[in-house]
Amino acid sequence: MLIMKFGGTSMGSPSRIREVASIIAGKNGCVIAVVSAMSGTTNMLLSIGDMLRTGHRAEAEEAISQLKAKYVNVVDELLEKVDCHTRAMQRVNTIFDSLASFLDEDVITDYEERQIVAMGEQLSTKLLTECMSESGHAVAEWSALDFMRTNHLGVVDMTYLHDRLSERLQKSDSPDIIVTQGFICTNAYGETDNLKRGGSDYTATLISAAIDADCCEIWTDVSGVHTCDPRFVNNTHTIPHLHFDEAIMLAYHGAKILHPTCVAPCKAHGVPIRLLNTMRPEDEGTLIDNAHEFCGLKGMAVKDGIAVAILKWNTFTAGDYRREVWQHVTHFNGECYMLNVTHTHLMICMEADRHAQTLAAALKKYGDVVIRTDLTLLTLVGESEDCHQTTAMSKVISALHPYETCASWTGVADNAMWLLVETCNKNTVLQQLNEALF
Ligand code: ASP
Ligand code: MG
Repeated sequence: MLIMKFGGTSMGSPSRIREVASIIAGKNGCVIAVVSAMSGTTNMLLSIGDMLRTGHRAEAEEAISQLKAKYVNVVDELLEKVDCHTRAMQRVNTIFDSLASFLDEDVITDYEERQIVAMGEQLSTKLLTECMSESGHAVAEWSALDFMRTNHLGVVDMTYLHDRLSERLQKSDSPDIIVTQGFICTNAYGETDNLKRGGSDYTATLISAAIDADCCEIWTDVSGVHTCDPRFVNNTHTIPHLHFDEAIMLAYHGAKILHPTCVAPCKAHGVPIRLLNTMRPEDEGTLIDNAHEFCGLKGMAVKDGIAVAILKWNTFTAGDYRREVWQHVTHFNGECYMLNVTHTHLMICMEADRHAQTLAAALKKYGDVVIRTDLTLLTLVGESEDCHQTTAMSKVISALHPYETCASWTGVADNAMWLLVETCNKNTVLQQLNEALF
């Protein structure tokens, strides 16, 4: 069983939807396609919800009719066969009638807003299903609301997901191609809900884990994970393979790949994830699985807006103070990336937000505190036989040798190393490291 997820851009126009349909049709065996709303739709639905909630009825009415006109055009352009066209148009009418019915209400509830935001995926799955059926494929649209359910804590019920899907897949009339919505779910109260913005990736990895799929393919508009963000660096290339932990490390430290939460279900069930490009379906993309490679550094993630607070202790003997300082650090509410404690200093590398300011202010009681902002954290990922990363470290140092002012702090783990650079030097350093290391 193959799970294929297509994002909003991949579903962004009739020609892109046809492209998606032909990618799915090229697969052998059973496929579950998880799709996002067409790009822009979720944002539009959210602002319609907002207009309705704040009593901007006329604006909401206008926005609803513009959005409907867009979908009517898409259906006209996408589908020729009368029965397919009629079925898709029926969905468009049902969805937009129910959206327009909220115009008659004085107030709309949270629950109704969640119903509204779920409409984008309910439209896109129908478009893809009818497009595939028009070209003669046996395809079924399954509503995610029937199997994706969260419990009272908002956590997806994996047993329910597994049971409902297995039950349906075992039926002899289950077709080879199933299309379902990403993002949307039913909550513990039986209401329509969602898995938060960008949740379609999560739907795909959860389904993959629940039925132990052979692979979870995530289709976007880039060919997998690059050695570095191609928006800032020239000559990057796709990283062919990452371990799950390396992918999580990159994602957590700013790489625009799958959210770490999305990787977790596939990691736990050992289902490989492949990141692929709908614009270049022949590219191999990036494979993420549980295999270790020990081939050294593979790529890096970049995170701006970093601050470092350096506390120089007032006294060497103030053991009690240290305990107090530690309380401040452990109760720190912000995002902390690195922490370094010596008998003379405490250094903390964190997101430069109000929490960082609060912590730095609290630390002033215990010694001199220097806070540096406008820093960028570079996370270089890859495993080597040498778990101290000494080879990697010496490569990084020689790559940066001509730019001695750039790096101010480093840290090492068995599959990653970190460098802190001034944001103004970021592009030079990234270019240099990309050329020297990958
Ligand atoms: N359509 C939803 C969003 O825009 C879910 C997704 O695309 O993953 O957040
Ligand atoms: Mg997305």
